[in-house]
Amino acid sequence: MPMFVDTSPPGQCIFCKIVAGDIPAAKVYEDALTVAFMDIGQVNPGHVLVASKRHAVTVLDLTPEEAAAVMQTAQRVAAAAEAAFAPDGITLFQANGAAGGQTVFHFHLHVLPRHAGDGVALAWPRK
Ligand code: C5P
Repeated sequence: MPMFVDTSPPGQCIFCKIVAGDIPAAKVYEDALTVAFMDIGQVNPGHVLVASKRHAVTVLDLTPEEAAAVMQTAQRVAAAAEAAFAPDGITLFQANGAAGGQTVFHFHLHVLPRHAGDGVALAWPRK
């Protein structure tokens, strides 16, 4: 199956549509600058994406305020994952550009609960 890739412009990409509420997503947190929702392709239970509300493409496009807000939201989500899934660890990862493994070109950070021996092999670009 071909990998889903979304290089749509601001307002038209899949995450802009999630931010706008035009398509459904399981949102777990939202504030003025960020939104967190369940990744549609759960690598492990509790796999959440933290996206900027504004259509920044990569980490380089975030304002300092957005960058700080993304990490604060990620910390909140990680704490919730800790309580809900009792993971052995939590991996944060974030891809920039096709060569960096990015497939949806609207900034997002993955929060992934991990369990010892879960066999998750993270590679960039992901297969
Ligand atoms: O880091 P990368 O850009 O590859 O991550 C994109 C992520 O967006 C994937 O993990 C994919 O499962 C997720 N996705 C989603 N909802 C969609 C389309 C993609 O959660 N509608």
